[in-house]
Amino acid sequence: MESCLFCKIAAGEIPSDRVYEDEKILCFRDINPQAPVHVLVIPRAHIPSVDEVNAENCDIVAHIFKRIPEIAKTVGLSNGYRVISNCGPDACQSVGHLHFHILGGKRLSEEMA
Ligand code: 5GP
Ligand code: ZN
Repeated sequence: MESCLFCKIAAGEIPSDRVYEDEKILCFRDINPQAPVHVLVIPRAHIPSVDEVNAENCDIVAHIFKRIPEIAKTVGLSNGYRVISNCGPDACQSVGHLHFHILGGKRLSEEMA
């Protein structure tokens, strides 16, 4: 996906503040943090959103969740965190490449929407 922002970040064409990476996924700090700690975890492969996760590509989601606890430790989230994936217009998804927000570093709102 040549025009995809997160594909460009994954390819290193756009710089990012990386906190974790391996051959399948990348985690970097959100450019507009909404909590003291706010990072995004993405697959290197382009998947537009949760809505396009299927039997063929769902292993990457398992891999992301396998790594989230160690990523959370790496960024200092020792007292809990929230994992969010916005999917589609009603959820205000603004980048069409699957990503999981990890938010924490303070007591987060009890409201989720
Ligand atoms: P969404 O709104 O799609 O759930 O989340 C997209 C996130 O990507 C937003 O929190 C936004 O701040 C972040 N973002 C947008 N452009 C960039 C960028 O160029 N670099 C980084 N690090 N984050 C970005
Ligand atoms: Zn992409």
